[in-house]
Amino acid sequence: MILIEVYLPFSQLWYLLPLFIYLSILFFGSKNICSQFYAKVKCTSEDKSKLHLTFDDGPHPETTPEILKILKKYNQKATFFCIGKNIEHYPEIAKKIINEGHTIGNHSFSHSYYFDFFGTSKVITELDKTNQLIKELTGKDCQIFRPPYGVTNPNIAKAVKFLNLQVVGWSIRSLDTIKDKKTVLKRLQKAKAGDIILFHDTKEETPEILDEFLRLYDDADFR
Ligand SMILES: [Zn+2]
Repeated sequence: MILIEVYLPFSQLWYLLPLFIYLSILFFGSKNICSQFYAKVKCTSEDKSKLHLTFDDGPHPETTPEILKILKKYNQKATFFCIGKNIEHYPEIAKKIINEGHTIGNHSFSHSYYFDFFGTSKVITELDKTNQLIKELTGKDCQIFRPPYGVTNPNIAKAVKFLNLQVVGWSIRSLDTIKDKKTVLKRLQKAKAGDIILFHDTKEETPEILDEFLRLYDDADFR
């Protein structure tokens, strides 16, 4: 009886439940780039003939050239989602990426910690500035964008629509920035043609991990 008396009265706290659920959905939608919650995001490729390797946050003066060497060794092409200010700092490396037949995508200008809080016009300025830097290198309009931290929200969605950019996510996140080589390689075991794999060309260990992964990828035992 005591329990019934305690639990039966309708607590006003229950009014907060729908709000909690609503905020949880918004949070999930923002954090999960492939949820398609705010923007249409490409997370696997329709081209199922090969792996789609992507590298975020460069160009980096040491790691990016190392990555390029390994890609050449395995005859793989990749997409580098570059940060605009890094292209400004290392234009020669960005040029090398293009000259070796790879693609450069937009990964914002500043990669600010506060990017998710920027208003639409500030996001447009960031993306446009980086698009212009990419156009100076390639002579072509950049059409792809990967949001910093993989976060999408209404302001980012509006900016992307305004600039007519395709948002690119991933189907496999290597976690190369936070996990050790063994763990990353284990995560990559599930990789198959058509997957879009997220790496970072700013992490010292990534070239070695990539080398090992591409060597093992052709080995049937690995898959
Ligand atoms: Zn990033």
